[in-house]
Amino acid sequence: MREFDAIIIGAGQAGPTLAGRLTGAGMTVAFVERKFFGGTCVNTGCTPTKTLVASAYAAHLARRAADFGVLLDGPVRVDMKRVKARADAIVTEWRAGIERRLREMKGCTVIEGQARFEGPQRVRVGDELLAAPRVFINVGGRASVPDMPGVHEVPFLNNRSMLELDQLPEHLIVVGGSYVGLEFAQMYRRFGAEVTVVEKSPRLIAREDEETSAAIREILIDEGIDVRTGAECISLAPHEQGVQVGINCEDGEPTSVGSHVLLAVGRRPNTDDLGLDAAGVETDERGYIKVDDGLATNVPGIWALGDCNGRGAFTHTAYNDFEIVAANLLDGESRRVSERVLGYALYIDPPLGRAGITEREARLTGRPLLVGKRAMSSVSRAIEKGETKGFMKIVVDAETRKILGAAILGMSGDEAIHGVLDIMHAGVTYEVLQQTMPIHPTVSELIPTMLSEMRPVE
Ligand SMILES: Cc1cc2nc3c(=O)[nH]c(=O)nc-3n(C[C@H](O)[C@H](O)[C@H](O)COP(=O)(O)OP(=O)(O)OC[C@H]3O[C@@H](n4cnc5c(N)ncnc54)[C@H](O)[C@@H]3O)c2cc1C
Repeated sequence: MREFDAIIIGAGQAGPTLAGRLTGAGMTVAFVERKFFGGTCVNTGCTPTKTLVASAYAAHLARRAADFGVLLDGPVRVDMKRVKARADAIVTEWRAGIERRLREMKGCTVIEGQARFEGPQRVRVGDELLAAPRVFINVGGRASVPDMPGVHEVPFLNNRSMLELDQLPEHLIVVGGSYVGLEFAQMYRRFGAEVTVVEKSPRLIAREDEETSAAIREILIDEGIDVRTGAECISLAPHEQGVQVGINCEDGEPTSVGSHVLLAVGRRPNTDDLGLDAAGVETDERGYIKVDDGLATNVPGIWALGDCNGRGAFTHTAYNDFEIVAANLLDGESRRVSERVLGYALYIDPPLGRAGITEREARLTGRPLLVGKRAMSSVSRAIEKGETKGFMKIVVDAETRKILGAAILGMSGDEAIHGVLDIMHAGVTYEVLQQTMPIHPTVSELIPTMLSEMRPVE
């Protein structure tokens, strides 16, 4: 048995930086990773998809070149092998960098393999038994396979296998109209595939406000994507041209035949093969590790960070988990998960940047509200760049005058939302943001204008 001061399981978005802080504080760390250093984000999530989104944007802009007075001779063609090679190169560099950093880290011992608890302070990796008074679980999640009729009778793709494609599917059917599915849907449409999105809910990206869902649907339909919502009974069956997807919508064809099917219907935590029972670590009914506000599990000396604790589903929430745990353990602070302001983005084009709660959620609180809204077509920067789709919206508590949430669906929405996030984090009233002097011409400059036109919600 090898003894360490700490064991970290999973080289995702929290583990590697945590190893840096722990070894920096003089601790010895055993670092266990079973597959790719960098986890989901670097290998099969954010990095490759946003790289592909960039290629898709280039194709889209090239098709629109004449709108800007730029003439291209001949049709725009997409070389999928080169598109994939570009994404692979960026992923490989990031992955290698993280692995190198860990292997060169003084005090850190990298062990490759599947980690499994054998007791609260004991973890087995193959033939090796590791022991430490502190164990940090950062095992992330994977695409879930839905319990859909026919799912095991057809070949289907997930976020990982989609990235292995280096040829254009003739017709890609995306089952799941939420964050992961919509990004793939739009990029493959822009690469030149026929694309159908099949979503069970009555609207896309159903956790957002209705007007956000409607605007996103319009953006996708405008690009020629077939959007089929309200698909009550989705089923899959082999077909000579690929896969037949049963949709059973209220209107439209009852089935659609695709050459390829992507299942993007949610994710599940990698906690089922971790031996958590042997350590006594509790999970909820969906397998997420239960943690307190400082990310400690029910077992003293064991923490869970990132997607596996169910307190966030993003790279930045996983990284923020690291910051909270490190600050509390090493810096004598008492930071809490409940103090963070949620923000995230959907990287279709134009992107959706989000902060805090939606208007619908704000209404459910019963609090008196003020709401401001502006169309992107009134943003001069958007007009100048010829990208005027979308809108921005902000919701304020009329009594405390603090911002409760915001959505910016439009060009640079993923960046402009940070002004709102910062103000929310600072805990000051919306007037502080309203009184800033923003730079012209930017998308952000319309936020103070919008804030000066707030209207009470009936
Ligand atoms: C297609 C897609 C696009 C995304 N885009 C974005 C985006 O744009 N922005 C964003 O913020 N988020 C995005 N996400 C979500 C983001 O990838 C995750 O939230 C993030 O990676 C979670 O990080 P993590 O550290 O919790 O786990 P992960 O990154 O999943 O890392 C977990 C690591 O643990 C390892 N592991 C698991 N079990 C064991 C074990 N028993 N023993 C040893 N090692 C183990 C795994 O191999 C993996 O390396 C995207 C996700 C997907 C699928």
